[in-house]
Amino acid sequence: MQMKVIKTVAEMKNFVRAVKKTGKTIGLVPTMGALHKGHLTLMKAAKEKCDIVIASVFVNPTQFGPNEDFAAYPREFESDCAKLESVGVDAVFHPEAAELYPSHYTAYVTVDGDITSKLCGARRPGHFRGVATVVTKLFNITEADHAFFGQKDAQQVVIIKRFVRDLNIDVAVEMVPIVRAENGLALSSRNKYLSVAEKKAALVLSASLKAAKEAYTNGEKNVAVLKSLLTKQIQAEPLADIDYVEVYSFPDLEEIETVKGQAIIALAVRFGKTRLIDNAMIGE
Ligand code: AMP
Repeated sequence: MQMKVIKTVAEMKNFVRAVKKTGKTIGLVPTMGALHKGHLTLMKAAKEKCDIVIASVFVNPTQFGPNEDFAAYPREFESDCAKLESVGVDAVFHPEAAELYPSHYTAYVTVDGDITSKLCGARRPGHFRGVATVVTKLFNITEADHAFFGQKDAQQVVIIKRFVRDLNIDVAVEMVPIVRAENGLALSSRNKYLSVAEKKAALVLSASLKAAKEAYTNGEKNVAVLKSLLTKQIQAEPLADIDYVEVYSFPDLEEIETVKGQAIIALAVRFGKTRLIDNAMIGE
């Protein structure tokens, strides 16, 4: 079957209605495009679990702050379509902004508490309100049975799982592990912004996570010590400018002094104008 390119909500609802009539399950993979192998891994996970896979490619204006990279964000819809088709995606949803946010748009989904006030929630005010809003809309439009998100944006997954539970939305949210380049750099559409030197410097993210994981495995459970190890290693890289280095319980993102259950090491670091995030899980 040829991949369908769908630009309007009405057309997507027709597509979904036809699929649902046949009793088939729908998997949704939301993206902002400029697709890489990380995204395609999500598509493959969706293919494995669901009969029909819908990808969305939408640079969502409401999740960008006024001084962020909304205008500069890479838009490569044609090559994205070729990639999506190559992994067997059935339909791609690629609406204009006005299709999802018509004039006088006023309805937003906000998630309160520790899980949004920390990490990227603290550094990017309004970001997760934009994410929760657009993802809710995509859930309503596609009636997805399963939706797939990357651990790369672990806080996003925590927030989505929370509002899906709290608002009784009928979708199973799946978290897919981080896909990295051979040298360890987590794949990201924003890696395109990096100069050659910055790309090399950015290896400090995965290297410091690996070192912290090793320290943990060798018995270091003290969060302050782990954070200090990470900070020192990242600060030793001249092109790196730390936004945050944190270790929290996972998935509740609570402050901890020692690692007991599962915890997340989360990093946000600037290289020139580009802000990259990465993370690793430790503990049980
Ligand atoms: P984005 O287009 O950057 O908003 O990402 C769309 C989805 O792909 C999100 O669920 C991301 O977490 C996921 N994703 C992005 N990069 C990676 C990666 N390197 N590995 C796995 N998933 C990823």
